[in-house]
Amino acid sequence: MWFSNGKIVDVTDGEVYENRHFEIVDGTITRIQLDAPAASEKAIDLGGKYVMPGVISCHTHLSVVFPFSDTDENENPAITAYRSAQRAHQALIAGITTIRCVHEQNQADLLLRRAIARGWSTGPRIFGAGRAISTPNGHGAGGDCSYAEGFEGFYQAALGELDAGADHIKIFITGGLAHAGESPNTPEMTDGEIAGAVKAAHEHGKYVVAHSGESTAIMQALNQGVRSFEHIYNLNEATAQALASRGAFVTPTLCVTRSESWMRKNHFEEHSIQNALRASEQHLASVKLAIAANIPMVNGTDYPPGDLVDGLPAALHEMYLMHEAGLTPLQTIASISTTAAALLNQSDKLGQIAPNYFGDFITVEENPFKNLDTLRNIASVYQGGIQIR
Ligand SMILES: [Zn+2]
Repeated sequence: MWFSNGKIVDVTDGEVYENRHFEIVDGTITRIQLDAPAASEKAIDLGGKYVMPGVISCHTHLSVVFPFSDTDENENPAITAYRSAQRAHQALIAGITTIRCVHEQNQADLLLRRAIARGWSTGPRIFGAGRAISTPNGHGAGGDCSYAEGFEGFYQAALGELDAGADHIKIFITGGLAHAGESPNTPEMTDGEIAGAVKAAHEHGKYVVAHSGESTAIMQALNQGVRSFEHIYNLNEATAQALASRGAFVTPTLCVTRSESWMRKNHFEEHSIQNALRASEQHLASVKLAIAANIPMVNGTDYPPGDLVDGLPAALHEMYLMHEAGLTPLQTIASISTTAAALLNQSDKLGQIAPNYFGDFITVEENPFKNLDTLRNIASVYQGGIQIR
C-alpha cells in the first residue's frame, strides 16, 4: 500500500521532507520517494499533512485499578485482561502506537500481546515486564506483584517473569506516593536484591527498570546495573551526573504529581492526592536537574496513556509538561520517538519514518518543530500501515 503526498518529519534532526510518497508492505516501510507511485498502485492521499512516528510511551499500567486500594489480588485474569484491552485500544486510538508496561496484574501485558498478535484484540505494540518484583512489604504490596526477598529470591522471581516473556524487569527501589504511610524517600531493597534482578535480566539480554524516589537508592541501583529510572521525585546534582555519565534513562512521569482533577475524577484516596501534590515542586526541580545533566528522557504517565487528563491523552499531556520543564522541541519529540526506541533497544525498527521501520505513524497539520501544539490535534493514526483513526 502506498501513502502519497505527505511531509515526512525527520525526528532525528528536525528536518521536513515535502511531497514524499512511501510504501508499506507487511507492516514495514519499504521505500520513501519523490516520484508519485504508478497510477495502477493503490494509494492513500495524505493531503500534504506532516507524517510523524506514532507516539511511544514508556511507563504504562494497563491493568491498574483506581483507587489502588480497590485492587483485588485474586481477580480472575480474564477481567484483568478485559480492563487492560480497553486501555490498550484507547491508547492506540489516541496515537500511541507503542507502550512499555512496567507492572501488570496477572501479566496482562504479556497476555494481551499474544491476543493482539493473533488478531483477537487491538492495541499498541507492547514491551512488557509482566509483574513487577517487590519486597513483601514494599511499594508493590497489595498490587499482585511477584514478592521476593534476598539475592536468590529476586533472581528466581525475575527468571519467572522472563520465562513468561518479559522484555525487562521492574523493581521498586524506594517507596512511592500511592499508599498511606509510605515515602518515596525510603529505600526498600538491598544491594543483593537489586543484583539478583539485574543478573537474571542480563542473562537474558534484558535490563532492569526501577521505580525510584530518591538519590541514595538511585545511586545504589545504578551501581548494581539498573538502566531505567522512573519518577525521580527527589534527585540531587551528583546523582543526575552519575545517571548521565553511565547512559541511564529517566522517565519523569511529571503528570503523576500535577493532575489533581484527574485523580479526583478517578476516585483516588485523599492521602494519595495530598502525597502527589506535596511532592510536586521537588519533583519538577529534580526533572530540571536531570534535563540540565542531559540524561536521555522518555515519556511515561503511570496512568493509562490514552486516558484524557485535562482534555489531552495522558501521554501528550506529559509530553507538554516535559517541554515546559525545559526540553527543547527536538528533545521533546525524541522523548516520544527516538529516545524511547533507544530505551526499548528498537532504534532500528521504531521511532522514525524511514525504510525498514514499522509503518506506525500519525499525521498532524503543522510542522511540530515550529508548533508543538499541533500534536494536540492528531489528524490520523496508522499502525503497520493500517488506518486506526
Ligand atoms: Zn508506575
